[in-house]
Amino acid sequence: MTNNTNTALADVLRHSFGFSTFKPNQQHIIESWLSGTDVFAALPTGGGKSLCYQLPALIRDGLTVVVSPLIALMKDQVDAARENGIPAACLNSSQDADTARAVWRELAAGKLKLLYVSPERLAGDDFRSALVDFGATAFAVDEAHCVSEWGHEFRPEYRSLSSLREIFPEAPIAAFTATATRVVQDDIISHLGLHDPVVVRASFNRPEITYRVRRKTKVESQILSFVREHEGEPGIIYRSTRKSTEKTAESLRQYGIDAHAYHAGLDDTVRSDVQERFVRDELQIVVATIAFGMGIDKSNVRWILHGDLPKSLEGYYQETGRAGRDGEPAEALLLWGGQDIAIIRRHIENMQIREEQTAAEGRVREVLHYVEGRVCRRTALLAHFDETFPGQCRACDICLNELAFDDATVPAQKLMSAAVRTGEVFGTHHLVDIVTGTATDKVLERGHNTLPTFGVGEDRDRGYWISLARDLESGGYLLRRQTDTGLPGGLMLSSRGKLLLRGKETFTVLRREGVPAESSGTHGAPDKAPLRRDQQDLFRCLKALRKTLARERSVPPYVIFSDKTLRVMVKNRPTDSQALLRCHGVGDRKLEAYGEVFLRTIRNYLTTGQCE
Ligand code: ADP
Ligand code: ZN
Repeated sequence: MTNNTNTALADVLRHSFGFSTFKPNQQHIIESWLSGTDVFAALPTGGGKSLCYQLPALIRDGLTVVVSPLIALMKDQVDAARENGIPAACLNSSQDADTARAVWRELAAGKLKLLYVSPERLAGDDFRSALVDFGATAFAVDEAHCVSEWGHEFRPEYRSLSSLREIFPEAPIAAFTATATRVVQDDIISHLGLHDPVVVRASFNRPEITYRVRRKTKVESQILSFVREHEGEPGIIYRSTRKSTEKTAESLRQYGIDAHAYHAGLDDTVRSDVQERFVRDELQIVVATIAFGMGIDKSNVRWILHGDLPKSLEGYYQETGRAGRDGEPAEALLLWGGQDIAIIRRHIENMQIREEQTAAEGRVREVLHYVEGRVCRRTALLAHFDETFPGQCRACDICLNELAFDDATVPAQKLMSAAVRTGEVFGTHHLVDIVTGTATDKVLERGHNTLPTFGVGEDRDRGYWISLARDLESGGYLLRRQTDTGLPGGLMLSSRGKLLLRGKETFTVLRREGVPAESSGTHGAPDKAPLRRDQQDLFRCLKALRKTLARERSVPPYVIFSDKTLRVMVKNRPTDSQALLRCHGVGDRKLEAYGEVFLRTIRNYLTTGQCE
């Protein structure tokens, strides 16, 4: 690419989007695609995918078609694009005939640069030939993992996309996804028939999110105290059952907190109303089963709280990824307890297909490894995406040194000694029976009640020993024997375990009682100081103004300006257009549309200390 093209891209970025620099990989993706090459891009949620196809659409001749499965989201995307001055529209089954006709007219008149369509739409022959007539010159496939049966969201209608390449041999295709495993990547490339694509795999790190994991003690009050620390900040609470979403929402409402449940059992109208109000900043908290969030493009979600152990790390990461998409600090708190494991295991036992069971077991083990781990949460999460992260992130409970550990070398030796004395073939519960001096039939039959280790751990409860055994296993001190049946076998000592048994190593466990469930209140991510009180007042004024404008225009508030833009305004206090233009997220178009009212509000606040 020449310097000229570079400058041209930077100009469009500045003037249409109001951003001064590209996010990682955006420029590479845009340049490759514009040069006519196919592109495969795996970017994390919040990585800025939309810009990767919106910006080129402005530069390229002809029409850019975006395939997106999320009909609910299309309108917001179109609104956002239009706000930035991009002639965009969408066609999908949820529109009325008049609206669709208007879009067709615009297409025929060659007025559109960007068209969002659902995959079902694109499958029709008539529609495809119309696109040929309307001069479609490039295709972007969003959520491209939906094409893969290996992905967690396979959609049969995505399969029809495989003929795009033949019908539009000249149009470069760019595939975007937030699922980064290699199998899915290969599947996407082969099904879409991407020709020698430029492959971009971004880092999945989300530095703005602070991750914390806590044991459940009293879940409702832990949730309440977390929510109180995040007064007025939009957030999502995930619970594993419909009943618990309602219970949590109800108990928050009793304390005057604005929360609503969301799950598949609710009426469609209730669901869309909850979603709508949340997106428009009119509802602070949604308490949801996993059914919520996928179709939501709300950039100012400030926190995600999981009230139960998630079923997979992939799902957990996608869910936490819904916070902080505007790049501002956000928090993820996961609460879990032994009870959760039992519930998930029961669910797995009920699965009919053996392979599914095994896969689900594997996923639970990965989650447990994560919650019980002692390494930087980021390192552990990114390892799941085949990414190496060095640790010391300064934005997780481990790196912030928030967790208290107790020495457990002696108890660990007691438990391991029970394993050794019984031939290293028994599982957790039997070993725990022995150390706690529980004379079960199995213990008595084998004479394990006569071992010197029988009852040496009576001073602690069963829960302690079970979680100790689990810690030893996830720490690699105890290993599971492989069995022919595929079922988990007994526990044996690793070489590290033997060192620990001989006192050559020490072992610590997470302190169970008295660990505060609250976050540190620092807002987590480094370098992002919380707003001062006076700044918060101005922030509130600007948010209120944004909400009014959004309501007038029937768009979500963040489409007007993101939280990040408002924060920059609060810090810079611009009082003229030039200064406002220097604020992140303010381009020519938005200056024209909103500059005056925002400047007036800021000036007014500076002189009177009032909103208006
Ligand atoms: P994704 O679809 O990958 O989850 P989005 O396209 O919604 O991500 O972008 C996430 C956020 O990042 C949006 O608020 C968007 O405006 C912002 N963004 C995108 N590109 C840039 C950039 N170059 N500089 C600053 N912010 C950006
Ligand atoms: Zn860390």
